[in-house]
Order: sequence, then C-alpha cells, then structure tokens
Amino acid sequence: MRPTILNPLFAPISSLDGIGPKLEKTLTRLLKGNDEQGMARVGDLLFHLPHSIVDRRNQPGIAHAPEGAIVTLKIRVDRHQPSPRGNNRVPYRVFVHDDSGEMALVFFRGHASWLEKQLPVGEARFVSGRVEWFNGRPNMVHPDHIVSEAEFDTMPLVEPVYPLTSGLSGKVLLKAVRAALATLPELPEWQNQAVLDKRGWQSFSKSLNRIHAPRDALDIDPMSPAWQRLAYDELLAGQLALALVRSQMKKAAGKARIATGIKSQAILAALPFQLTRSQKQSVDEILADLASPERMLRLLQGDVGSGKTIVALLAMAACVESGAQAAIMAPTEILARQHMATLTPLCKAADMTIDILTGREKGKEREAIYARLANGETDILVGTHAVFQSGVEFADLGLGIIDEQHRFGVHQRLALSAKGDDTDILVMTATPIPRTLVLTFFGDMDVSKLTEKPAGRQKIQTNAISLERLGHVVDRIRAAIDAGKKVYWICPLVEESEELPVTAAEDRFKALQQILGDQVGLVHGRMKAAEKDAAMQAFKNGKIRILVATTVIEVGVDVPDATIMVIEHAERFGLAQLHQLRGRVGRGSEQSSCLLLYKTPLGEVAEARIKIMRETEDGFLIAEEDLRLRGEGEILGTRQSGTPGFSVARLEVHGELLEMARDEARMVLDQGFNGEKGESLRVLLYLFGQDEAVKLLRAG
Ligand code: ADP
Ligand code: MG
Repeated sequence: MRPTILNPLFAPISSLDGIGPKLEKTLTRLLKGNDEQGMARVGDLLFHLPHSIVDRRNQPGIAHAPEGAIVTLKIRVDRHQPSPRGNNRVPYRVFVHDDSGEMALVFFRGHASWLEKQLPVGEARFVSGRVEWFNGRPNMVHPDHIVSEAEFDTMPLVEPVYPLTSGLSGKVLLKAVRAALATLPELPEWQNQAVLDKRGWQSFSKSLNRIHAPRDALDIDPMSPAWQRLAYDELLAGQLALALVRSQMKKAAGKARIATGIKSQAILAALPFQLTRSQKQSVDEILADLASPERMLRLLQGDVGSGKTIVALLAMAACVESGAQAAIMAPTEILARQHMATLTPLCKAADMTIDILTGREKGKEREAIYARLANGETDILVGTHAVFQSGVEFADLGLGIIDEQHRFGVHQRLALSAKGDDTDILVMTATPIPRTLVLTFFGDMDVSKLTEKPAGRQKIQTNAISLERLGHVVDRIRAAIDAGKKVYWICPLVEESEELPVTAAEDRFKALQQILGDQVGLVHGRMKAAEKDAAMQAFKNGKIRILVATTVIEVGVDVPDATIMVIEHAERFGLAQLHQLRGRVGRGSEQSSCLLLYKTPLGEVAEARIKIMRETEDGFLIAEEDLRLRGEGEILGTRQSGTPGFSVARLEVHGELLEMARDEARMVLDQGFNGEKGESLRVLLYLFGQDEAVKLLRAG
C-alpha cells in the first residue's frame, strides 16, 4: 500500500483550487501526453519543472529602462486614451509617469472597462514587462503584470517559465503549480544526513519549492543543489528498483551449466578466422557465468562490426554442451534470417540442431517448431519477438540472448527470462550506449566489451557531398559497380509520415534502375518477407550490385563484400544511426567508403554530426557526441525531450549522481530495507512510481 503521506501527491489535479475539468484536460495533455491513461495528478504537476526564468528584479525607473529589457516599474496613472471608435487598429493607450519620466502602456484591442479597473487614473500601480522605445518615447506593450501596491508580494520578481501547451498560459500554469506546492507535505528523509551536509542539499520539499520559486537563474540550473537533490532522488529510486529486480532474478537460483568444449571447438575449427582478444575474453566471462550457480545477467557491448554474433554462438554452444537449449532474439525478421543463415552451417559443424521462429512460420510448420522446442529436439532457436509469445515453451531454456537490445523493451527481457526457471540472460547492444545509459536502463549488469575490431579492417573513408551533385555521385557509383563493388543506398526517414521513406526509396530505386538497369535492387519494411529475403539474397550473391533500402538494414545486416554506403539526406539521420548504417560496410579487408549526401543549407547540428562522422569511427566517441548534441531521448528512439522515463534527472549532466545512486542502491540492498530508513525509502520508491519494485521487496 502506498504510504498515506503521499496521498496529496497522488490526488487528481482537479482537487486543486481553480482547476476545473477543462483545465484538467489541458494540463493532463501537457503533463502526461495524449496516449497515457488517466488524468494528471498533483505530483505530475510538481515534477513539471521550469526551463528558464523571467527576471523582473530590475526597477530602473521609466527614463532609465533599457530598450527591450524586462523591468518592473512603480508608476502613477495619468490618463486613458481609448482606440478611436470603430478603429481597432489604433491601440488603447494608458499614459503613466514616475519620478524619472513618462511612458505609455499599450493595449491592442484593449477593453476599456477592464483597463479602467486595472489602471484607475490617479492611482499607483506596479507594472512589469518589456520596454520599447519609439522616437525617444518609452512604451510597454501589454504588461505581463499589473498589480496594486498591496498586491506587490504576489508578483513573482523572478518568474519561473515552464514548458507549455496550446491553450495554456504561463500565468495559469504558475497558479496551478503554486496550488500544488501548497499541498506538498514534508516527507520523511530518505537520504543520508552525511550526503545532504556534504552536498549542501535541503529536504525534498524545500528543494522542490526552491525550483518552483527560484531566486535567480542559478536555482533552475540542473546543476543547482536543489535540482541535483531531486535528480539524485529520482536516480536512486530507479537504481533501487533495478537492483531489486536484479536480486530477485539472481535469487531465483540459476543452474551451474558445465560446458565440455566439444562443440565450441568444432565451431572454432570451422571459422575462417581467429577470435579477437576481446571476443575470447567475453566468451570466457560468459562461460564462467554459465558455470556458476547464480543466474547470469550480462550485457555484451560491442560496436557495429565488432563480431558479437560469434560470441553469442559460442555461448549458446556451451549451453547446449551442458545439455540445455539456447535462444537468440533479433529485432527484425531480416536480422533473424541472417542469423539463421550465418549460424546454420556452424551449428551443423558442431552437430547442433537449429530452428527459426518469426511471424512468418504459421500453422503446421509452427506447431512442429513448438513441438521440437518442447521436447528438447531443438538445441538453438533463432527468432524475433515471436519467441516471447505464450505458446512457445522450451524443454530447458538455459540461455536467452537478446541481440540489438535497444529495439526491445526492458519488459521483454523479463518475458524471456520467464521462459525458463533458471534461464541465464545475455543482452547484446550494437549501439555503443554510453555508460550512463547502460546503468539507467539495465542497472548494475555485468558487462563484457568487445573493444577491438577484427584484424585486417581498414578505415572507412567518409565524405560528404551536396545532393546537388547527385549526377556526379551516380557516375562514381556506376564506375564502382563496373569494377565489381557492391553498394548500399539508404533513403531518408521523413519525420511526419511512415509512407514517405518507402516512396523515397522506391523513387530512388526506379531512377537508379533506369540508369543502371537490373543491377539495382530494393528492400524496405513494407515488402513481404519473402521479397525482402529475395532482395537480400540477390545482393549477397551479387546478382544485385546496388541495394536501395530504407533503414531496415540499419541493424545487424552482414554482407562483408559490400564496400560502399551511400546515405541520402544524411542530415535527417541522427549520429548514432549514421554510425550504425556506416558500420554495414568496412567488414572485410577491402577499402570501404561512405558517402553522406546532404541537402543544403545544413543546420548547425547536422553540420556538426557530419563533421564528427568524417573525423572518427569510434562508436563510443560518437555515442557521447550524440548524447551531447541532442539528448538521450532520441538515441533510444523515443522522441521525448530529456531523458525518457525521467522528470528531473538529465543524464548528460547528472552522470556522476547516477554512479553515486548505483553505489547507494547496492548498499541499501546489502543492509535491507529496515527501520525508519527502510520506511522512507519505500516512500521514495512510490514517489517515483517504482511500485513494482516495492512488490518485490515484500516478496523477498
Ligand atoms: P556485430 O557485432 O555488428 O553483430 P557481426 O557479428 O555481424 O558484428 O560480425 C561482423 C563481421 O565480422 C562478420 O562478417 C563476421 O563474420 C566477421 N568477424 C567476426 N569476428 C571476426 C574475427 N575475429 N576476425 C575476422 N572477422 C570476424
Ligand atoms: Mg549483430
């Protein structure tokens, strides 16, 4: 049960003074977006933090008000000059003065009755707004605030400015936030006093109040003590939840799976190459986890092209050697089929049975696959998310591998582990996620890293060319394919519509086909699976020399002798995505190149991205730059601002706090949720919506 002290924060916002059904709807749209269920709560409003301030502290007097500056002036009202009858284009003016001079308050379509009440002739008022000088005379158009001397205290001299939505004014939102703050109780402290002292942090409610009533711009800086405190609270809640999930999974005792090495030796013998040092090390780390009776939760991180697939296969082989089954899940069908094609001959060499399960296997065929899985006939299953479905049962699933994890949600990771009582889990990420994001989304997982590329790879030459020179590019491509090379040609994502990228790819396909004939192929997400296969196959075996594609090939596709990557409208792609795409070439020992075609004029960010792409192939560096350039939200493909799932914490600035929260969470779990501290930590978990974790707490 939620601690009762939190009830005010979980009350609907309509319980606040001045919020009726209409405003409740508008605020909910702002605070929760359109698709989420239910109306916003008071807590949502409280975690809606200002992004800037308007500073009204400057009170220079009329004559000294700088052009264009926001000022607050104490004035006396001299006379009203309404718009001439029937001519609304001339504004309503109110002339005022102070000791230093005179000015006009200007109102377009001003209502006389309202203005006469607000600004009675002969009386003193405080007005605040922007001053503009015309022909040597100061004006203030539509003051932001007009208050009497008695009301002066109600005017925020430092006014927080919030993200808004249509139909909502800053004033109304500020009032709502203030009403919410009034209901905020002092909560039991869950942070250690020593930390608070050392950091100069105040209580949760004081910190929240400080940000909503800032004294200056520093107070709403994410690095301010108040903001840091709240970010730390949020991060700690997240880390505690992940730690609880993790300890629960680990507690569900794993099995010691002892590998014989027979099958892996057969695989290694069949490979045309040697493993890299970090591949060997990663395999060793995974094997040690499999052999231990604890459940494995490991992340295998390796840049695109670093050779994760073979590591996965060796892990699965070890699992099969111990007598259990293994499964590997890919995010797209193309990728699943590609894994199938790569793994099948190697499995044969090691005498293992392999099956594939995607949306395409239907009816009898599917039943047969289910049966083979259930009776243990199948050693290794390759699949898409179809594998998570309820009909799928394994005789003994020892190892579940999720490839290219960022396409899958965290709950799918849990769903996979639920397919076996003691299934070890390996998550593979191709996008080199910065460490901070790994921690946030996977928690304290064990990490293996592929730090080097397989030997013999050459640098990919990356060039940027304006789309205006498309003709020249096509000439070069023609020469390249005449020389026997293979080319990917990626067409752009278009923001608003799902149809358009397909159209763009189809158009480009037709245009190139007219020039270059049958050597041009096409693959995109809307094609039937069999057509996709056929196109990929034709590209692999060389019947097709140019493959025009949408980003369906972004993830994982492996055609080692494709050496040229053309990315059209490169300015529309994110940095991480460009890096993923470029990683499709440069997989063999031949010199590869990447052409970024861009449309002029280039925006600042797009230009920065292209520059980075030309300068480095280091995926980790690129990921960090990407994080810096546009925030983590988009790296993970969610188009929210800020860090997805977080209201306060900003990973690009709070990375250090995240590490601290991880350590603290570990300590709390070691010591248990006892006494007052334990109670207050429960409050923290509920406060940040980590109720699921609280359930685990009780179970354990
Ligand atoms: P990713 O990490 O992007 O999934 P893959 O597993 O698809 O990378 O491997 C990329 C390419 O590198 C494949 O063609 C694979 O056969 C090859 N490869 C993997 N390991 C090695 C190695 N140690 N030496 C040479 N080539 C390798
Ligand atoms: Mg891969």
